[in-house]
Amino acid sequence: MPGLNLDLNIDKHHNATLVVECPACKHELTHHLKSLTPDHILPCTCGEQIGLSGHDLARAQALHQQIIRN
Ligand SMILES: [Zn+2]
Repeated sequence: MPGLNLDLNIDKHHNATLVVECPACKHELTHHLKSLTPDHILPCTCGEQIGLSGHDLARAQALHQQIIRN
C-alpha cells in the first residue's frame, strides 16, 4: 500500500501542522503533528477515513526534524 501524500506547515514557533491529502477526493486535511498518534484516523468531509500509520507518522516527524534543522 502506498503511503499517504504528506506535507508540513511550520509556524514561526516551529510548531508543525501536518497536511494530509485525502486519497479519495484530494482534499487537504490539517492536524497538529504533536497531537497525532500512530493509527490515528482522520475523517475527511467526503466520508473517507484516512488511517495514518506509524510509518506515515515517522515520515512526517523526520520531515519536521529536517525542516527545523535548516
Ligand atoms: Zn476526501
